[in-house]
Amino acid sequence: MATGGLEIEQLIMLLARLPGLGPRSARRAVLHLIKKKEGLMIPLSAALDRAVAAVTVCEVCGNVDTRSPCGICADPRRNESGLLIVVEDVADLWALERAGVGAVKYHVLGGVLSPLDGVGPDDLAIDSLVHRAGEFSEIVLAVNATVEGQTTAHYITDRLQGLGVRVTRLAHGVPVGGELDYLDEGTLSQALKARTAI
Ligand code: ZN
Repeated sequence: MATGGLEIEQLIMLLARLPGLGPRSARRAVLHLIKKKEGLMIPLSAALDRAVAAVTVCEVCGNVDTRSPCGICADPRRNESGLLIVVEDVADLWALERAGVGAVKYHVLGGVLSPLDGVGPDDLAIDSLVHRAGEFSEIVLAVNATVEGQTTAHYITDRLQGLGVRVTRLAHGVPVGGELDYLDEGTLSQALKARTAI
């Protein structure tokens, strides 16, 4: 049942397609925007227009920015660590940056290998990773701890063999602040395997 005019319904439909928003939240958001037309709706619309015109994907690493190469790739201080962190998605890159992992560079794969979904090596940014791998002393495979993520990590490790670059992956184990009793068996056994000296 339509609650507003065509333009309002279209706005609700589009917002409802955003991650984390369903039709109900989208309706609330649109109502809020309409009530705050001057202070929020018009600036949001202008910001969207500007972003549409400016956003681009970095030709080197796959990050999104308003320039290519992106700000991270263009930052000369990030060459010194020699560390390249491989992630599945731009969201993972942003999460690592928020965590302040240091002066590193990134490579965004754009997904993981998944034969069931028809995603093969050619669908991911793996050739470009192999191509730039020689510029770094260590490559960290920061893919998700899922079956597909680990399959992808193995495939990439094979492809990087013989290039003389150290390949590592993130530790799997007890989360910071985590209680052992609440962990699943897979995490606990991985944590024991990956134990470190104090
Ligand atoms: Zn970049």
